[in-house]
Amino acid sequence: MNTLRFFALKESLSRKPVVIEENERRSALYGKHVFGKQAMRQVLSSDAFEAVQDAINTGSKIDRLMADSIAAGMKQWAISLGATHYTHWFQPLTGATAEKHDAFFESLSDGSAIEKFEGAKLVQQEPDASSFPHGGIRNTFEARGYTAWDPTSAAFILDTTLCIPTVFVSYTGEALDNKTPLLRALNAIDNSATEVAKYFNKSVTKVTATLGWEQEYFLIDAALAASRPDIMQTGRALLGHAPAKGQQLDDHYFGSIPSRALNFMKDLEQQCMLLGIPVKTRHNEVAPNQFELAPIFEEANLAVDHNSLIMDLMARVADRHKLKVLFHEKPFAGINGSGKHNNWSLATDTGVNLLSPGSTPMKNLQFLTFFINTIKAVQDHEELLRASVASASNDHRLGANEAPPAIMSVFIGKQLTKVLDELEKVSDGKLSPQEKTDLKLNVVGKIPEILLDNTDRNRTSPFAFTGNKFEFRAVGSTANCAKPMVVLNTIVAKQLKDFKVEVDTLIESKGMKKDDAIFNILREYIKASKKIRFEGDGYSKEWEAEAKKRKLSNNRTTPQALDIQLAKQTLSLFEEMDVMNSIELKARHEIEIEEYIKRVQIESRVLGDMARNHIIPTSIRYQNLLIKNVKGLKEIFEGDYKTMASEQLNIIEQISSYLKIVNEAITEMIAVRKEANLLDIKDRAKSYNELVIPYFNKIRYASDKLELLVEDKLWPLAKNRELLNLR
Ligand code: ADP
Ligand code: MG
Repeated sequence: MNTLRFFALKESLSRKPVVIEENERRSALYGKHVFGKQAMRQVLSSDAFEAVQDAINTGSKIDRLMADSIAAGMKQWAISLGATHYTHWFQPLTGATAEKHDAFFESLSDGSAIEKFEGAKLVQQEPDASSFPHGGIRNTFEARGYTAWDPTSAAFILDTTLCIPTVFVSYTGEALDNKTPLLRALNAIDNSATEVAKYFNKSVTKVTATLGWEQEYFLIDAALAASRPDIMQTGRALLGHAPAKGQQLDDHYFGSIPSRALNFMKDLEQQCMLLGIPVKTRHNEVAPNQFELAPIFEEANLAVDHNSLIMDLMARVADRHKLKVLFHEKPFAGINGSGKHNNWSLATDTGVNLLSPGSTPMKNLQFLTFFINTIKAVQDHEELLRASVASASNDHRLGANEAPPAIMSVFIGKQLTKVLDELEKVSDGKLSPQEKTDLKLNVVGKIPEILLDNTDRNRTSPFAFTGNKFEFRAVGSTANCAKPMVVLNTIVAKQLKDFKVEVDTLIESKGMKKDDAIFNILREYIKASKKIRFEGDGYSKEWEAEAKKRKLSNNRTTPQALDIQLAKQTLSLFEEMDVMNSIELKARHEIEIEEYIKRVQIESRVLGDMARNHIIPTSIRYQNLLIKNVKGLKEIFEGDYKTMASEQLNIIEQISSYLKIVNEAITEMIAVRKEANLLDIKDRAKSYNELVIPYFNKIRYASDKLELLVEDKLWPLAKNRELLNLR
């Protein structure tokens, strides 16, 4: 009998929930392990405090002397909380986070030792880190990579390590990470949006992008997960028949949270509180063992850091609870996959949400300006937005009838559709006083301050307006939010920049009033961005046909979707907005294609190994049992045995035919892979996509049939129904 599966089952059934005490109020824990304002006030001189605040608010530089003083304070604070090490914490282009710990400890020549941390170590480091993907950037004449402190995201203590958020750049200044382009994109949106916001309020001096992500994930018992090579190595079940009872009864969604999962959440949330991650919502999702977690939204750079941090934290906390977290977009066939909705908006330093309707017509004109410009930006760059969420794992989700399709579209709801229809009728040129009054009273003045309950929620839309923010739902659950945030903020920044130029031109050359000019330009934008607006069922076949007519892109696979990254207009967009240069863009394209190939290649290898090493031998063993039985029957009943053994013979044959399918498919798949590996990167990606992946389903289909035939006791892999049975 196979032992690992049954050992794992026994382990998982004997688990007791890890008890988590809630001894302190959450608000008292909040931010305790973050080097925020409060901590800084305690340990920094007022000069040093001001220097950090200035750097955060205006991007001013911190000189070396001041850095020494800040580092000393940081060290004092960190040591008081038990930290022994520090690290520059960064986000290389693997999508994960990276850290290399150094001890504060230093020995002195007299044999004693001290704890030391200098400004130079805080501000900049050169971790060798040459093995991170760089897409050719570090092959150039200078291969060094540096990490540099990002004061806008506060340092924090994880376990016993002081983590200092940093950017990661090459010697020549090219970004080697996800954070650097994000900071540049956020700077671009600040510049453009502030200029436009000034039309409505001169005292606005800064606009920040806000992000509230919703993270979906699965929790699996650690021992059961460990018995599955596919889950351990690829994060998803490449094999395994769907459980008879999956999600069809909808009894998991918003149901009472299984106690092991709930204790995991409590534990995680307490850690989040200490780290200043404002988690607020937790609930069961649609699929069995699937859950969701969401914080209160934050400034986008911080929110991205917090999402990266929490994914790391979740894996650690899960260990303590003998669980494994799966972030994969489609860990199990036949039940829902996971996404990561990115709720996005813009906020002024005067405290106004620019995507929130207001109480006066003027405030609503401001709202409409940002609202319509965002729609126009998505329309003009829909393909780039699609590319920003492309990955091998997200390909399983987009367009798979449970998640938004690979076609980008914007949903705004009935009420706002009506408003835009009215605005489209605004007359060309100067508006008459009568028309203006009419507009103010009946159109702009009619948008209710609270739209939240009025926006019908179209869950099938990839980019939906939800009352006071847009919700980008095509983001994958494994993604680093920086990628979609870089694109979204850059395209809106570009759009707002163009808008400002167009409005100013009307004001200056045509002598129009500001309002008239704004109405005129918005009218044109509404007309120009009609094709991206769609209010119907995004999962339907009709929409696919309609989108094709509208010439919207429908890039179902990553290799297709990524092409746009190399287009001329993409390059000029990112260069114009100072977000990425051509070297940085090409590097990212290469890294993403490369990662796609590697992910598929790993899955293909794991699948081949599992099918050959687990499925085929097990099936043969069971087949031998049947053969023995048939032989026995023949011995006893001689001529009559055929009627008695007819079903056994039937199963023996079925096993042979499925074995044939599995084994032949593996042989062919390996051959196709070998050929693909000889091709250049673009064709290799295409081959992996078009020629290798189709074998996955073929092998899985036959293997899952074998799972249904073979005696349960012999089956070596934890079955999906066992994996999805968390209590
Ligand atoms: P759901 O989409 O599940 O119905 P909500 O609409 O209540 O949930 O909010 C989802 C997320 O939107 C939350 O994480 C919340 O913090 C975020 N959010 C709310 N307002 C904003 C905003 N102005 N900017 C960015 N995110 C926001
Ligand atoms: Mg949502």
